[in-house]
Amino acid sequence: MQSVTILGASGSIGDSTLNVLAQHPDRYSLYALTAHTQWQKLGELCLLHHPRYAVVVEEPGAESLALWLKARGSATQVLSGVEALSEVASAPEVDTVMAAIVGGAGLVPTLAAVRAGKKILLANKEALVMAGGLFTRAVEEHGATLLPIDSEHNAIFQCLPGHPRDCLGGGLAGSGVRKILLTASGGPFRDYPEERLASVTPEQACAHPNWSMGQKISVDSATLMNKGLELIEACWLFHARPDQIEVVVHPQSVIHSMVEYVDGSVLAQMGNPDMRTPIAHALAWPERMVSGVASLDMIATARLDFAAPDTDRFPCLRLAADAARAGGTAPAVLNAANEIAVEAFLRRRIGFTDIPRIIETVMGRVAFTEPGSLDAVQSADREARQQASALVELH
Ligand code: NAD
Ligand code: MG
Repeated sequence: MQSVTILGASGSIGDSTLNVLAQHPDRYSLYALTAHTQWQKLGELCLLHHPRYAVVVEEPGAESLALWLKARGSATQVLSGVEALSEVASAPEVDTVMAAIVGGAGLVPTLAAVRAGKKILLANKEALVMAGGLFTRAVEEHGATLLPIDSEHNAIFQCLPGHPRDCLGGGLAGSGVRKILLTASGGPFRDYPEERLASVTPEQACAHPNWSMGQKISVDSATLMNKGLELIEACWLFHARPDQIEVVVHPQSVIHSMVEYVDGSVLAQMGNPDMRTPIAHALAWPERMVSGVASLDMIATARLDFAAPDTDRFPCLRLAADAARAGGTAPAVLNAANEIAVEAFLRRRIGFTDIPRIIETVMGRVAFTEPGSLDAVQSADREARQQASALVELH
C-alpha cells in the first residue's frame, strides 16, 4: 500500500490523479489533499476520498472546512498555512507526492518532498524552471525519485532506454540519443494572423482545443510559453542542452513527444490526450496499470500533422529559449514575469500580446546571477514580479 499526498488536489491535475487513484483502492491510500483557497471543493473531495489530512493555505477557508467536515462526521484533520504544505509533503508516512500546485508557489513544498527522499510526480513545471540546478542536485543528494507528469516529458521518459538517473551519466549522447522532439499543439490561436492576437480574450485563450486544464497553463499554451517552460523543464529532466531539443507543432496532440537516436530511429509515445495516462504511468512505474483512458482509435485519428513553431507570432517560445541558454536565474525571472503577466491578462488588465512584451522588458531589466541557494532564486523571483507588476500598472 502506497501512501500519497496530492499538492494542488483541487485543480485539474488533482482531479485526474484522484480519478486514477480511485480505480486502485487496493494499491494507494491518501495521506493529504491540499488547496489554496477552494475549501468547498476540497471538502467534497475529502468526503469522497477520506485523506488523513486536508490543507487549506488560507486560514479562514481552513476554519470553514474544519467545521463543515465535522458536521458531516469526517475523520479528516484540517491544517492551514504554507508550512503545512511542506509538512504533508515530507511526513515520514508518505511514499509518493503529486506536485500539482500551479506556479512558483509549488517550489518550496515540492523541494520539501525532494529533501525527504520521496517519489515525486512532477506536474508543477514552474518549480523546475525556477530552480532546476538546485532541485536536481537535491534529488540526487536525498535519493528522491523524480518522475515527469507533463505529458511531453512523460512521453520522452517512456521513449528513453531507462530512468535518466541510470542511463544518462554521459548526457543524452551517452545513451545514443541524437535529439528530443518536443511536440506542441500550437494552442487555440495556432492559425490566427498576428493582428487578431491583440484582441483575443481570456475565455478564448482558456478554450484549449485538445486538453482541459487550469487557467494559467491554458494561457501559457496559447502564448507558447508553456512549450518554452517545457523546453527548460526537459533540459533539467533529461540532462539535455537547449540545442538538443526541437519543438514541433503537432495539432492533433496524439503523439506526446519523440526521441531520435543516433541510428535514425525515432520513438514516439502516443495516446488520447488525457492526463490520466502519464499519471498512471508515473504512479505505477516501473509497472503498468489501468488508467481509465480509452483506446486510441487510429482509424478515426486518420492523420498526424507537423509544422515548425512561429516565434514571430508567439515570441514567448523564443524568450524561454533565450532564458534556457542564458542559464542562472534567467529562467526564474522569465517564469515570474510570465506569472504576473498571465494573471494580469486573466484580469483583463493587459492584452494577450502585452504578455511577451512585459516578459521581454523584465528580462532586460533584472540582472541574472548564478543561483547558489534558494534565497538567490527567490530574490530573482521577487524582483521580476515587482518589475512586471510595475509594467502592468502602466496599462
Ligand atoms: P489548476 O489551476 O487547475 O490547479 C492548481 C492547484 O494549485 C489548485 O489546487 C490550487 O488550489 C493550487 N494553488 C494555486 N495557487 C496556490 C498557492 N499560492 N499555494 C498553494 N496552492 C496553490 O492547475 P492545473 O492545470 O492542475 O496545473 C497544475 C500544475 O500542473 C501546473 O504547474 C501546470 O503547468 C501543470 N500541468 C498541468 C496539466 C493539465 O493538464 N492541467 C498538464 C501538464 C502540466
Ligand atoms: Mg505539457
